[in-house]
Amino acid sequence: MHKRQNLITFAALFGFSTFFVSCTSQSTPSETFANADQEAAIAEAPPLFLKTPFQVEQNSTVYNSLRQAGLNPAVIHEIVNAANPVHNLSRVRPGTEAWIYHEAHPLKELRKVKFALSKRDRLVIELNDEAQWIPEIYSLPVDIQLVSFSGVVESSLWESASQAGMSPLLIDQLANIFAWEVDFNREVRVHDRWRLTVEQEFIEGEPIGWGRILSAEYENSGRLFSGVLFPLDSENAHYYRPDGGSLRKVFLKSPMKFGRVTSGFQRNRFHPILKVNRPHHGVDYGAPTGTPVHSIGEGKVTYRGWNGGSGNTLVIRHNSVYETTYRHLHGYAGGLRVGSTVSQGQTIGYVGQTGLATGPHLHFELRVNGRVVDPLRVEFPSADPVPQKLLESFQEVASHSLSLLPAWGQGERENLVSFNQTELAAKDSGTQE
Ligand SMILES: [Zn+2]
Repeated sequence: MHKRQNLITFAALFGFSTFFVSCTSQSTPSETFANADQEAAIAEAPPLFLKTPFQVEQNSTVYNSLRQAGLNPAVIHEIVNAANPVHNLSRVRPGTEAWIYHEAHPLKELRKVKFALSKRDRLVIELNDEAQWIPEIYSLPVDIQLVSFSGVVESSLWESASQAGMSPLLIDQLANIFAWEVDFNREVRVHDRWRLTVEQEFIEGEPIGWGRILSAEYENSGRLFSGVLFPLDSENAHYYRPDGGSLRKVFLKSPMKFGRVTSGFQRNRFHPILKVNRPHHGVDYGAPTGTPVHSIGEGKVTYRGWNGGSGNTLVIRHNSVYETTYRHLHGYAGGLRVGSTVSQGQTIGYVGQTGLATGPHLHFELRVNGRVVDPLRVEFPSADPVPQKLLESFQEVASHSLSLLPAWGQGERENLVSFNQTELAAKDSGTQE
């Protein structure tokens, strides 16, 4: 929705510049054309503005950069003051690209200054016909191209996906889709295979990043998991199975994204430090000190502090049934207190070696109705499925998104269709197909 609004802003701005130029040429007799030549002259119209690029240099300010670009101090102050209601120019980062626009002719007057606030956002301060500087921030339209990737696991999902050319962020996105079904720390097998279709975003022909994964599949030890993003026009979309069931569970499979199980749940175990037989009522994940630890579900912190041989410990109560405990932490996430609410996947602390521990690891425990159980053996309940009233439109989206998946491959990237924002907006609102 807001993408379409940006497009309109852009069009309005473009329209405004055109209007401005036609006014100027009418008020300047030397610029009027003989009737007969008018069309040809318009076709070969000279550039409307002279555009001079500059950059806000490291260790410099917008003021100094504009001085260097030849603007006089009084004009710079006017521009900075005018911009202030929409953006504080003293906060523009060094390295920011910017442009100055002078009228091409006749007076070569300064008309406009533009800053690239981000890859997408532009700040323009433009002189209107009443000689006032008017600021505006607008977003460039984003073009979307659909790209697909596929691969076969030889050692890890990470390795096969980077081999296919996926960025770390995109690999993370893929792993997150199936985080409830597959524990990528310990359930990945050689010959597992995966495929996906994702939006790649472009501005003015330059790739600026990855958008949403529309559909993905992961085959783990012969079991196939499929995920379809829905609804496409919502900020609050989730991945569903083709039958409309949710891929999400009330709890994540693991409190660690990467890290391996070094010791499982055992009713009896010889303790490596205490040298006695003692049950191991949790799962140990070995990982370097400082590795983030995530809450496996929504909940409230009920304990945060030192707990003898367990070192720094966090306990989270998820509901009247489930409770999780995280031990030997190096530290806690900032701002976390007893009573804080946490969301699923939120970083709550960092792997450490506090208390009685032979190396950095997380000791993780799950209690169901107060009784400690093996978290690797519990089947967690699923989150809500697609609501009944949306099932029909979900099935359309699902069959389309799944048809965009590439053939099972050996680690390839494939470019599919590209479309612009207007078409995308139409697709989102379901007016096409
Ligand atoms: Zn342990």
